[in-house]
Amino acid sequence: MKTFDLQRPATVEEAAGLLPSDRADRSAVLLAGGQDLLGELKDDLVAPERVVSLSGVPGLDALTWRDDGSLAIGALVTLADLEEEPRVRAELAVLAEAAGQVGSPQIRAAGTVGGNLNQRPRCWYYRDPDSVCLKKGGTHCFAQLGLNKYNAIFGGGPTYIVHPSDLAPALVALGATVELVGPSGARTMPLERYYLLPEQDGITRETVRLPGEVMTQVVVPAQEAGLRSTYLKFRERSSYDWALSAVAAGIRTEGGVVTSARLVLGGVAPTPWRCPSTEALLVGRPLDADTIRDAARDAVRGAQPLSQNGYKVPLTQGLVTRALSALA
Ligand SMILES: Cc1cc2nc3c(=O)[nH]c(=O)nc-3n(C[C@H](O)[C@H](O)[C@H](O)COP(=O)(O)OP(=O)(O)OC[C@H]3O[C@@H](n4cnc5c(N)ncnc54)[C@H](O)[C@@H]3O)c2cc1C
Repeated sequence: MKTFDLQRPATVEEAAGLLPSDRADRSAVLLAGGQDLLGELKDDLVAPERVVSLSGVPGLDALTWRDDGSLAIGALVTLADLEEEPRVRAELAVLAEAAGQVGSPQIRAAGTVGGNLNQRPRCWYYRDPDSVCLKKGGTHCFAQLGLNKYNAIFGGGPTYIVHPSDLAPALVALGATVELVGPSGARTMPLERYYLLPEQDGITRETVRLPGEVMTQVVVPAQEAGLRSTYLKFRERSSYDWALSAVAAGIRTEGGVVTSARLVLGGVAPTPWRCPSTEALLVGRPLDADTIRDAARDAVRGAQPLSQNGYKVPLTQGLVTRALSALA
């Protein structure tokens, strides 16, 4: 690991000012809980001269329920704090369950919401210091024809990473927005629009975050009464692991009929993968066995598995079936 200077700004604006304003300039990176970044530093995947820690910026660790029923989650809120917050557990089960399934208790104690949403992919060609894959400026995505058991079945090409965050599908299912502060001031956007597919200029980056921008908070809007939601994740190793496939589901019913539905997949695409046709299929129908079967089939329609990840199709179909059955 290359030696670097650690900088501890006192405000978000100061932090933004310490970051390079040019994408090609890799001289400084942002640090939150370090659970992802330290691995990248140790493997020389990033080799900055300066590491800009957010730990000295007050207020970013606040979790605030506002009067209008929305929830503002500061970028430095830890996954453990989010998972354990009583009202989150009671009203936003999908979010508490997703936070509670990240890594291990130690990772959740140190890892933050901002770091979770901005972590880099786990594709082992990207993580291998000796592989110059397409994401690292090479000419080929080695996963396309090589070891691709963990890679994308939706939205791939020309790279085939999967988005690694457990929180992101849950927050997209809840319609969350993110706030970014940078050299040009603050801007907000739906989290769903924060992530880029490889074909959308998302080859060497995964988000629309501009150089010098810092994610400051995530806002979950007030949810209509009657929301039932859940997050189901399948992982290879039960102690701690990223999702092979995951489902974030939120449903409302009235008189036994679905009135609104949100379904977002994790671990199967380069972004949290929303299923709009499945959501439309669910609305207006009772959440019975026939509807759930049709929805689970629809959710995997259009999947394009690679040579070693065809198992993700029935796995995802099964997870959607289980998630919707749990909400019925
Ligand atoms: C063994 C292991 C298992 C894991 N398992 C899971 C899992 O099951 N599910 C899962 O979702 N994740 C998992 N993770 C990934 C991740 O480390 C954690 O989820 C954690 O939330 C990362 O947060 P952090 O604060 O430590 O981020 P850091 O490591 O500090 O930062 C991660 C990245 O985000 C950027 N960043 C941090 N904060 C901001 C901000 N405010 N604005 C803009 N960019 C920012 C950093 O520059 C860096 O590139 C795992 C990690 C490890 C090491």
